[in-house]
Amino acid sequence: MLKKSIDDVWNKKPLIISGPCSAETEEQVLQTAQQLANTNCVDILRAGVWKPRTRPGQFEGIGSEALQWLKNAKKTGLLIATEVATTKQLEEALKFDIDIIWLGARTTANPFSVQEIANALQGIDIPIFIKNPINPDIELWVGAVERIHKAGIKKIGLIHRGFSSYGNMEFRNAPMWHLAIEMKRRNSSLMFICDPSHICGRRDILQHVAQTSINLGFDGLMIESHISPDTAWSDANQQITPNTLQTMLNNIVWRNENIDNTDLYYTIEKMRLQINHLDDELMEILSTRMKIVEEIGNYKKQNDITILQTHRWNEILERAFEKCEKLGLSKEFITKYFDAVHMESIYHQNKIMNT
Ligand code: PEP
Ligand code: MN
Repeated sequence: MLKKSIDDVWNKKPLIISGPCSAETEEQVLQTAQQLANTNCVDILRAGVWKPRTRPGQFEGIGSEALQWLKNAKKTGLLIATEVATTKQLEEALKFDIDIIWLGARTTANPFSVQEIANALQGIDIPIFIKNPINPDIELWVGAVERIHKAGIKKIGLIHRGFSSYGNMEFRNAPMWHLAIEMKRRNSSLMFICDPSHICGRRDILQHVAQTSINLGFDGLMIESHISPDTAWSDANQQITPNTLQTMLNNIVWRNENIDNTDLYYTIEKMRLQINHLDDELMEILSTRMKIVEEIGNYKKQNDITILQTHRWNEILERAFEKCEKLGLSKEFITKYFDAVHMESIYHQNKIMNT
């Protein structure tokens, strides 16, 4: 297979990164790499060499010895990526010609670690992927991007791997797509990859989450794969074989962010204009509503009446719930909407009370 170069793959869409959660043995790395290369769908081989584990005593990665296996896997033509969490690990990875480095979720959450790695990256030309922090705080993610950018790194990519939350849930790490969307809005020039494996933590919903990310306009996917997923030494429940990966990728409907077809473009533009008008109207209506809220606030102030009138708030919600389903609006959305409106109304009346 022809060896890919970073420049070949950097602007490729979709960019596909796959490989085991952890490098376990040389055979496992080479066989997985070969099978992935044979699919012709994968650009970059990923494998963890140092594994951040929640509890001690679990498999913590092979360490530097596995870097030689990754280097040997380059003969498949794939580019090679691994995670580093310390400057020592970065130096080791660079000795073995690793093509791409990624910062894991636990590293992004720690500005000291990110800054140390950024300092060590000064003057080095290597692409860096930055996973979101484990906690749902995009400022930390933005901060990590800024630190790596200031170190002079030109090729920076983002990886959305979901956010950790407490309790038994559908996802191992909740996707919280709104945060990913906001991150994309703020960094529209950066490559944005989705990692459905760490979002799902299981195989049965991988396809669905991968498709959702592509629907949203992500530039590619990082999906963990293993020649024998059930026997994997880490993240066994979420890994799939290279064959399953190929089937999954074949079944994805790939979408284009740009609308090339002129007729389609104008049809959508017309509808977007309608939406703009409606949004303007909604804001004007909300503004009128707030003026009435303020007038009521004045009466409440003059007559020493509390802002919160629980029965009135219940009445508003009940009226809304009765109507919303007929209008095709979910109860969940209407609750969020009225919560926001109510909080804003309280804020306006409180300002009046206090002046
Ligand atoms: C990984 O990619 O194997 C990994 C440890 O991911 P994260 O940093 O997203 O937990
Ligand atoms: Mn993993």
